[in-house]
Amino acid sequence: MDRIDYLRKELERLNYEYYVLNSPTVDDIEYDRLMSELVELEQQYPERQSPDSPSARVGSDISKEFVQVKHQYPMLSLSNTYSTAEIEDFDQRIKKDTGIDAIEYVCELKFDGTAIGLRYRNGLLVQAITRGDGEQGDDVTANVRTIRTIPLRLQGNNYPDEFEIRGEIFMPLASFERLNKERQERNLTPFANPRNAAAGTLKMQNSAEVAKRGLDCFLYFLLGDNLPADNHFDSLQNAADWGFKISADMKKCGNLNEVMDFLRHWDSARKNLPYDTDGAVIKVNSYSIQNEMGLRAKSPRWAVAYKFKAEQAKTPLLSIDYQVGRTGAITPVANLQPVQLAGTTVKRASLHNAEQIELHDIRVGDTVIVEKGGEIIPKITGVDKTARPDNSRPLTYITHCPVCGVALIRPEGEAKHYCPNELGCPPQILGKIEHFVSRRAMNIEGIGEEIASLMFEHGLIQNIADLYDLREEQIAALERMGKRSAKNIVEGVERSKQTPFPRVLYALGIRYVGETTAKKIASAFRSLDAIRQANLASLLEVDEVGERIAKSIIDYFADQRNIETIDRLRKAGVKMEIDEEEIPPASNILQGKNIVVSGNFSRSRDEMKRLIEQHGGKNSSSVSSNTDYLVAGDKMGPAKRQKAEILGIKIIDENEFIKLIDNT
Ligand code: NAD
Repeated sequence: MDRIDYLRKELERLNYEYYVLNSPTVDDIEYDRLMSELVELEQQYPERQSPDSPSARVGSDISKEFVQVKHQYPMLSLSNTYSTAEIEDFDQRIKKDTGIDAIEYVCELKFDGTAIGLRYRNGLLVQAITRGDGEQGDDVTANVRTIRTIPLRLQGNNYPDEFEIRGEIFMPLASFERLNKERQERNLTPFANPRNAAAGTLKMQNSAEVAKRGLDCFLYFLLGDNLPADNHFDSLQNAADWGFKISADMKKCGNLNEVMDFLRHWDSARKNLPYDTDGAVIKVNSYSIQNEMGLRAKSPRWAVAYKFKAEQAKTPLLSIDYQVGRTGAITPVANLQPVQLAGTTVKRASLHNAEQIELHDIRVGDTVIVEKGGEIIPKITGVDKTARPDNSRPLTYITHCPVCGVALIRPEGEAKHYCPNELGCPPQILGKIEHFVSRRAMNIEGIGEEIASLMFEHGLIQNIADLYDLREEQIAALERMGKRSAKNIVEGVERSKQTPFPRVLYALGIRYVGETTAKKIASAFRSLDAIRQANLASLLEVDEVGERIAKSIIDYFADQRNIETIDRLRKAGVKMEIDEEEIPPASNILQGKNIVVSGNFSRSRDEMKRLIEQHGGKNSSSVSSNTDYLVAGDKMGPAKRQKAEILGIKIIDENEFIKLIDNT
């Protein structure tokens, strides 16, 4: 995999965490850095540009739990700028492209929430759709209907019969603080920031809960055939008369100087707003110029976002807590003297890992610089060494797990320390249970983070196999649990016995075995027993399984406690092999054949591999003397072809391959 492939894969993963899970693992600056590296490389190697690249598509928020609806007009992102010089370039380019000297702009705040498209017909709200992948989004109408500031029925009478209005659903800071306080009291992980809280809330399955969370919405763009004005600003003023919440802080600017004034003013004034903003948006006012400028793949040419600089504050570091995550990863967290930053009170900040602490030489008692700029949680970016007390001493990092007391390890090449006591350390046991019951794994309804902790604390479950011994009366006796929910859980556990084997394998939570890998391993070995008996070499044969994954699987089966758990799960009736009737083989024409596919095809590579399996063949990732066919696609690496030629292996193209299986 080269750097471009790596960056694309990494950005896809980060997009998924950010837009679908609403739980980013890196901050925006890091994400933006990876994205600009990708854009630069794609410019350097234009032959590698692709409409599929994350640089050319908006990050998708689509989730399976909602119905997808096609957008009438593409719903795009905005291009970002970080300096006033880039805003000047934007202005110059528009003047040059249109030949017009005096462009009127509208400056708006960039609300930090999640985008929504609202469709109205005859004055009534008919549909609310998320941005999705820009072409289609999730239908979240039921949830949006609970937001009080979004009118279900319009006022006045000069609105078009049919139109769409777009805006940002956000969570005001007060609602955010209230929600997180509640979550902490109930032992739930707090939301990292109001943006995640808003996006996560909008995708809940329970509209009554959405209604309680205090979401709000500013509208900032009108679309349709019969709009009331020929420009953006006036259209929005009309929309305000129909009952929409339009920000009073938008400003019409006749020239670039006025735009700069707006940016300067809000750079500090935004700190007093009751909601988060992460920048400003500068839009061309005239619709005809907007249309003339048109759109790029991912953003309009007639608008640009300007990101404000991260906000900073100084405050003393009082102490450090070490948190143990669900995977055993240790995160040092700083307890700070409470300080106001970006509209919220900051009391804690992540210190990431031992390396970061060493790098900045952060010590208890220091006055530290905390920063917050659209990122996950505030972070410490430096130390004011002039304020360091005389008696200060360098920090000594912990050597043992603060929860279970086992000595920590730091795997080679990783910045974090881990507690290796996977099966005996409470947060890790809980992590395994939560993963096991999660939707994409065994999908056992009724057991979320909260109930899992409760059952664990009361000793009802110590391990995933215990779930299958649960009795209704035991669950019903827990606080806040009724008979009905207890019954639901037991029924959910019973239903989970029908979960297909590939998902069971994923649910076991073997380190590094994600959903796709689990599917691949399950279809290569067909049963858990076969996987257990597999050696390193045969595991490495499976597509996408590298040394790290293979070793982790071997380690997993080497632990007797895992074998006991598996035996109990098997006895309970959980599927430990692929149901052969589930995927009837299409033929056995490729029986016993080892096939390598390489390059690009008209079908996806996964589809090609599936076809091979359906016809009895086996996929391997590298050409060797055991290979029977190399199916060569476009842009296949020359080294593979050469190796196949030397070994005298039959090279066929996609058409020949299809003919081969079509004969059956
Ligand atoms: P964006 O948030 O930078 O800008 C586009 C969005 O701005 C629009 O979709 C709209 O929702 C919003 N917006 C707010 N106020 C607006 C207004 N007045 N007018 C028009 N639009 C307005 O773009 P994006 O595509 O949603 O997100 C990309 C950014 O998200 C990245 O640059 C990165 O900072 C962050 N991101 C971070 C991660 C991560 O892992 N940390 C992952 C993905 C994306």
